[in-house]
Amino acid sequence: VDIRGYVQDCVQELQFDMEKKGVRLVLSDLPEAPLLITADREKLKRVFLNVIENAVKYRSMADCFIRLQVQDIDGSAVIQIEDNGQGISEEALPYIFDRFYRADPSRNTSTGGSGLGLAIAKQIMEEHGGAIWASSRLGEGTIVFMALPLTKQEQGGQGE
Ligand code: ATP
Ligand code: MG
Repeated sequence: VDIRGYVQDCVQELQFDMEKKGVRLVLSDLPEAPLLITADREKLKRVFLNVIENAVKYRSMADCFIRLQVQDIDGSAVIQIEDNGQGISEEALPYIFDRFYRADPSRNTSTGGSGLGLAIAKQIMEEHGGAIWASSRLGEGTIVFMALPLTKQEQGGQGE
């Protein structure tokens, strides 16, 4: 699949729902050239949804945005999902992709969750030969990065 179109479709699909929740979902400029990756669409969607669901769940301000960006970096398609939510403390950041881990504030508050969303996302990314990581500042927001290897042009056409 061309990840550009795929991300675009996902954003379009989610936009209405996000607007209802008062969240601005923005897709930044896409690269000019196709970014072909081989991936299971349904699983990839699961990853996006889990990350976006977190951005919505751990938001802080009323004026809340989520920005998606797709880039071609060193032979990988890198997708960024940025939010201006609560952020994650430095102590918690290394563990958020662990199963059942929930950072301090979220453990107590009313926001339900099992701490599996990101662990599942990580497993799926690894199945695809990709990676997922995050950077965050408490009180400012979070960026989740996902990298997927590009399909070599010679092999183009096969797989999705
Ligand atoms: P589940 O996704 O299973 O419903 P969860 O959201 O608590 O539960 P994860 O999605 O794995 O679990 O996230 C792990 C923890 O990382 C969360 O509990 C939260 O503390 C923190 N976290 C994840 N994404 C964000 C974000 N965008 N902003 C702030 N904290 C986050
Ligand atoms: Mg979650």
